[in-house]
Amino acid sequence: MNAPASSLHKPQVVIIGAGFGGLYAARALKHAPVEITVIDRRNHHLFQPLLYQVATAGLSPGDIAYPIRAVLARQMNARVLLEEALEIDPATRTVKLCDGVLKYDYLILATGASHAYFGHDDWEPFAPGLKSLEDALEIRRRILVAFERAERETDAAQKNELLTFVIVGGGPTGVELAGAIAEISRQVLVRDFRAINPKDARVLLVEAGPRILPSYPEDLSAAAEVSLKKLGAEVRTKCPVTAVRESQVVVGGECLHAATVLWAAGVAASPLARSLSAPLDKVGRVMVEPDLSIPGHPETFVIGDLANFPHQTGRPLPGVAPVAIQQGRHAARNILRLVKGQPSEPFKYLDKGRLATIGRAAGVADLGSLKFSGYIAWLAWLFVHIFFLIGFRNRFVVLFEWAWAYFTNQRGARLITGDVDKVRPGTRP
Ligand SMILES: Cc1cc2nc3c(=O)[nH]c(=O)nc-3n(C[C@H](O)[C@H](O)[C@H](O)COP(=O)(O)OP(=O)(O)OC[C@H]3O[C@@H](n4cnc5c(N)ncnc54)[C@H](O)[C@@H]3O)c2cc1C
Repeated sequence: MNAPASSLHKPQVVIIGAGFGGLYAARALKHAPVEITVIDRRNHHLFQPLLYQVATAGLSPGDIAYPIRAVLARQMNARVLLEEALEIDPATRTVKLCDGVLKYDYLILATGASHAYFGHDDWEPFAPGLKSLEDALEIRRRILVAFERAERETDAAQKNELLTFVIVGGGPTGVELAGAIAEISRQVLVRDFRAINPKDARVLLVEAGPRILPSYPEDLSAAAEVSLKKLGAEVRTKCPVTAVRESQVVVGGECLHAATVLWAAGVAASPLARSLSAPLDKVGRVMVEPDLSIPGHPETFVIGDLANFPHQTGRPLPGVAPVAIQQGRHAARNILRLVKGQPSEPFKYLDKGRLATIGRAAGVADLGSLKFSGYIAWLAWLFVHIFFLIGFRNRFVVLFEWAWAYFTNQRGARLITGDVDKVRPGTRP
């Protein structure tokens, strides 16, 4: 394995998953003497940190997704396959695909994670999570249709139910969703209806733990709660969800009637990890070695949301894009070292801090010794997110769209949605 590559056979590197980890790994191997196959079941890289903007009609899907093929178009040592990986056999170094089998010399597995319903997968149809463009459009549809149905509803209790939005999970995604929905109801839709006042919408963010944004310092959690309340959202902490049914959610023992319940809690690793026969943690993430490989297989790397890397802090690193990006680049560097016959090196995460936004003018920033909240934090968030948008061409388009929506309070064509008659809460069309 550690022998230098011969000039006849270029080592085959297979990267499964073109999210942040996989795509940055592929790009880091641009000048390497290897042949890369990038496999993804979608044809686009998705900038997940801005998904909630699509779900709340702030951005269009095309603003935050970019074809993987286009990202790698100029990288001649990389090819892209639109495929789903079903199984990996590290012993024979093969990946079983829906259509065929692929052999590899080096593998980077970067298929990410999703939400967990804590053993209640039957809750998902009534409380969808936000992970893909389809999820974002479905959530946008449910939010807009709830207002449309409320406009025609004559029964007061039904109307209240339609105008109640519950977001489960007080992490960054839950906070961002709650802020954006509160803002839509108070500012964006405010003049558009006749029979209802969208300002009457009740937006509740519920969290099982003692505070929202639990991974942030306490003062920033408190600042985020104040900002949410200013926007008109309610925050309930220490309120675990114990049941979700159609238009109902039981929170801290109380049954809330809400036509729109959204899920932003828990982590469930990609099921592909199970086929590796490597040790997994309790949410299914792979326990990786210090160099990001799996035990007994120095040529097989697992990165990003799918990896549990406890070697630096004693706890898993957070499931955020910078971890995936840095691990992608590191796994690529280690492959290069192995190709040259050198030993791999341990990974070290450089934590540059965290940012979250609440509505269009507030945020929280935890940049190590620098912690702040409010408008400046929101501006910092805006700058960082625009800067890292992977489809480099559309950065300016996105910035313009945002600026337009910001200064005019209009979301235009992004407020469109599907046929209301086909809509039943808790069902997908
Ligand atoms: C709504 C939301 C908001 C977020 N906000 C932030 C934020 O503000 N800041 C931040 O830093 N992080 C944020 N994150 C987290 C960040 O997006 C993830 O940490 C990051 O995307 C992880 O990268 P990854 O490469 O491990 O996996 P992903 O980016 O999830 O990529 C996984 C890829 O694998 C593909 N795939 C999965 N299974 C298969 C299969 N069997 N075969 C083929 N392909 C497969 C998927 O299609 C996908 O392209 C957010 C995440 C979400 C969902």
